[in-house]
Amino acid sequence: MSNLVIKNLHVSVETNEGDKPILHGVDLTINPGEIHAIMGPNGSGKSTLAYALAGHPKYTITEGEVLLEGENIVEMPADERARAGLFLAMQYPVEVPGVTVSNFLRTAKTAIDGEAPALRTWVSDLKDSMKALRMDDDFAQRDLNTGFSGGEKKRNEILQMKLLKPKFAVLDETDSGLDVDALRIVSEGVNSVHGETNVGIALITHYTRILQYIKPDHVHVFVDGKVAESGGAELATQLENEGYDRFL
Ligand code: ADP
Ligand code: MG
Ligand code: MG
Repeated sequence: MSNLVIKNLHVSVETNEGDKPILHGVDLTINPGEIHAIMGPNGSGKSTLAYALAGHPKYTITEGEVLLEGENIVEMPADERARAGLFLAMQYPVEVPGVTVSNFLRTAKTAIDGEAPALRTWVSDLKDSMKALRMDDDFAQRDLNTGFSGGEKKRNEILQMKLLKPKFAVLDETDSGLDVDALRIVSEGVNSVHGETNVGIALITHYTRILQYIKPDHVHVFVDGKVAESGGAELATQLENEGYDRFL
């Protein structure tokens, strides 16, 4: 039962006009090491799913459950979910002036492992991971996401995943805003973490481009806050050719 099971998930988002229901009964099971592409038109609720799984306070799960290795995480705050092995790479990573990448990562690693990583291995792990993602050494001393280009923000998200070694990762539009070289580097980073740790991945994307580099075992089409259709990699090829028109 070391899988991630999403059952009949209903989620509302807090807005100025009150709570707005966005997800209307999502069912999805990700087994260890599986890669699931979650595709769909803009506004279909993909990011809402990501935030709800990560425990963002603005997103309320009104019905259903999320089982991580058999344990329902719906009542857990975000930090506890992260400690349980869930990781979210955000579509729009948050800028945090005054906190360096290096400090942020070490603090996150310490929080998740329950103890600080040994300094010597940590420094070399950080260096090696940054090198693999073609990030300059001085990047570690920059303020988190502050003034980062779109591509740098996405690389930094994958750097976090590489170091934190989650059991399940939700990658929200990790491909958006990347040129073809950055897309390849980021994809290689994801594939290398996947190969090393057998992390289960929900890869959220609007476009099929990234799926040339990261091969999904399953593809799901999200429409109006629900999974409208599921299939194998061939479903992505079909979407590439036909777009989302037939779902709208
Ligand atoms: P996707 O990631 O598939 O593009 P989102 O999950 O971002 O979709 O959004 C789904 C729907 O929820 C959209 O109609 C969007 O406008 C609405 N929504 C999401 N977050 C908020 C919010 N904070 N306030 C109001 N509406 C929101
Ligand atoms: Mg969107
Ligand atoms: Mg989104």
